[in-house]
Order: sequence, then C-alpha cells, then structure tokens
Amino acid sequence: MAWETIVGLEVHVQLLTRTKMFCACSAAYGDPPNTNVCPVCLGLPGALPVPNERAVRLAARAAWALGCTVQPRSIFARKNYFYPDLPKGYQISQFEEPLALGGALDVATPERGTVRVGIKRLHLEEDAAKSFHDRVPGMTAVDFNRSGVPLVEIVSDPDLRSPAEARAYLTALKQVLRWIGVSDCNMEEGSLRVDANLSVRRPGEPLGTRTEVKNVNSFSNVERALTFEQVRQIALIEGGGAVEQRTMTFDAASGEVRPMRSKEESHDYRYFPEPDLPPLVLAATWLDEVKGDLPELPAARRLRFIRAYELSDYDAGVLTGSRTLAEFYEAVVAAGVPPKEAANWVMNDVLALSPDGETLTVSAAATVATIQLVKAGKVSRQNGRKVLAQITGSGALTLSPPQMAGTAEQVAQQLGVLQISDTGQIDTWVAETLAAQSAEVERYRKGETKLLGFLVGQVMKRSRGKADPKAVGAALEAALKS
Ligand code: ZN
Ligand code: MN
Repeated sequence: MAWETIVGLEVHVQLLTRTKMFCACSAAYGDPPNTNVCPVCLGLPGALPVPNERAVRLAARAAWALGCTVQPRSIFARKNYFYPDLPKGYQISQFEEPLALGGALDVATPERGTVRVGIKRLHLEEDAAKSFHDRVPGMTAVDFNRSGVPLVEIVSDPDLRSPAEARAYLTALKQVLRWIGVSDCNMEEGSLRVDANLSVRRPGEPLGTRTEVKNVNSFSNVERALTFEQVRQIALIEGGGAVEQRTMTFDAASGEVRPMRSKEESHDYRYFPEPDLPPLVLAATWLDEVKGDLPELPAARRLRFIRAYELSDYDAGVLTGSRTLAEFYEAVVAAGVPPKEAANWVMNDVLALSPDGETLTVSAAATVATIQLVKAGKVSRQNGRKVLAQITGSGALTLSPPQMAGTAEQVAQQLGVLQISDTGQIDTWVAETLAAQSAEVERYRKGETKLLGFLVGQVMKRSRGKADPKAVGAALEAALKS
C-alpha cells in the first residue's frame, strides 16, 4: 500500500541589519572571532536588551510579503536551555504571541502543480553564538560574533508531500525574501538554516510520529536528507517497528540521517515572557507604512509578464527569478526591444554571461546597444553575444545609452565581426560571384532556385564572412532577376 509523506519546515533567516537584535554590535559575517561583542550579547549580568527597530521592520516586511497578519502586539519570551554557545542560558525569542500569524506561499511543485503552503507563524529572535569543534584539537571554540544576530523563524504548515516539494518551497521562500531585501539567504554563511520535520502515514490515517532533521546546509541536501529519512521511516514501520520522535542530524558525506538526541517538547524550554522587554506594540500607521512599502512580489510580476509581454509561463518564471533580473528585462523592453526578443537575449545571452546565473555582469544599456547592432544587420546574431561579452570585459558598462551605442559598434569592429551591409561593396561581391559561377547562374535561371543558398554562400566567402547575409540575399535576387 502506498505511503504518504508529510513535511513541514522551520526556516531561520538572518535579517539584513547592520547591528544585532538587542545591542549595537555589528552583525557582519566573517569578522575575526569575538570582535563584535558587548555585555549584552555576551550575556553579562545586568546588561539590558534594546530591540533593533530595523530588524522589527524587516521581519514585518517579510511577514506581509508572505501574506501573514502582523500582530499589533507581540511578546518576547525566554527560551531556556543550556549550551556553551548560549551565555545567558536562554534565547530571547517569541512564543505565545509571535509577531505574525497565518500566511501562505504559492509553490510550483514538480508533481502537484502550484501548491499553497500555509505559513503558521513568523517570529523574531536572536541567534546563538557559533561553536567550532574542529578549530582547536580536542576542544570546542566559541565565536560570539553571531550571538544576538537578528533572525526570523518562519514555520510552515505540514502541507508539503515530498522531499522535492520541500526543496521547491525553500526555493520560493528564498526568492521572496531576497526579492524584498530582507535577507541574503546565503546558506554557506548560515543566513538561512532549515529544520525539517517529516512523518509518513497511510493515506487517510492520522499524522504519524515525526522526526526533525537539523544541520542541513543546502537545498539539495535538504532533499537528500528527507529522502533518506522517508525511506528509513517506511522501512522501520513495514518491518514492524515504530518511529520515535527524535532530533536527527544529516551527514552530507555519507548522505545518512542519524539520531542526535531525543526530541524536546516546547514545555522543556520553560518559556516565559521576557521580563527585560515590554510587549512589542506596533502602531497601525507604522504597520500600514511597512505594508505599503512592499514592491510588486515575484508571483504578481510573473503573471504581469505573461499578460503584458505575452511570455510563456516558463520564460516569465526565469525572468522573475530575481528582482534584479526582472528589472533588467523590463529596462531592455522599455528601451524599445520587442518583449519576446528581449526575453531571448536576457535568457540566452545575459544569463550565459552571468557567473552564477543570478549576478548580472552586463548592463541593460550594453544589451540594448548590442541588440540594435544585430537588428541593423551590422553584427550576426551569433556574434552579438561575443560583442556583449567583450563590452562586459572592457569596463564600459557605466556608459550612457547613446555612448554605449557607439562603443558597441567599436567593439564589434575590434573583434572583426562587423558585418558589411554597404550596398556598393555587396553589389561588387555579387557581380564577381555571378561572373565566377556562370554554370550555377545558368541552372538557377532555368529554375533551380534552391541554388540561391549556394550563391549566397559564395558571396559570403568572397566577403570573408563580413557581409550581412540578409543584404547579400536581397542583392543576389535583384541581380539574378536582371
Ligand atoms: Zn553586543
Ligand atoms: Mn528558533
């Protein structure tokens, strides 16, 4: 009998603030260990937390973008547990009255089309410090630079039905959060971390016992870890065993998921309201302002691209992959390039020149200038990309559009790919070719019109590839008719 897999995700995302959640220390990543610290984030006795307004604003922005309702009043709470990276012995988080509740994210899944995944809650909290078990032999080192860095925790409903859907959800979530500038979601630097809950059941039965997989450092590893865990749970139950509620860790090298500790329940943390902070009360005008400040979101922009530019669903999806790319595309269209043509250039050429498929190394002005060069018949479509690449490498990207047009032509000339569409020159090559190929000309005139292609090739050869093939075709046809 078939099994149904149920997945819910808790995602921790570091907010793009300059300073920490409750003190003025820098939140920068990568500084020398233990340099961005103060009595507050070191948990020294008597130090008092002061909330970072920017962090609250970014968290509310994320909540609105995910369709949540931001609560006008929320409560900071102490989550108590002991660990060397938690000097106060508790983390300031939110528990009973979180910042935001009840949102949803539409996710394009591989098997079920667009699935609306519920967002149960979004709350603010501070990060713990970072332990290093491999820096000092036989010892654990702790870097408190990360202690107190602002996070939001985003908890989904258990609406995902496979490891692949979990990955699709994470991709969609990251896209929105980066789009609105709330987080860089850089997993290598730990600014997006995933805890995944998975259980299996026979369809129609109540939810099975879930395990939580932690310590997964990439979206593809989330999918791998959940696939492993899914197979493990099914085998366990089919073998007559039962799943134990546990916290598991993923070993990327072996691809295995292993038990870490028995799963704690929320009552183990002895949550209680943070006595050093008053309730977080947000004025209606402030909430409206944050909401009104949101840009058009990726899903809406994608639909608009399909409607306004008659793009395919696929093309619209690629072009709204990031806000930068969507804006780049619209700048090219605004410069007068037909939407479908602009889409082809941006997807095939601009993205091919981007090292990671996301960071654009080309400017819209350079792209437009190159497209115009191709449309004017001065450069072949194929050589257009070479011109664009050369402009990119030449440091000329900051030129104004009119300057760029001249630069693109110069670059094409330097590369030796400038096509000749000067009719006088082309007519000469055509006349020379017709004189040299009299036999083929004779056959053409007797009705073998498919020889035109051959003759165009001969003219192109004579021009050493520099003639504009379209102009050559026209000139040849005219000459053959006379
Ligand atoms: Zn500090
Ligand atoms: Mn948390």
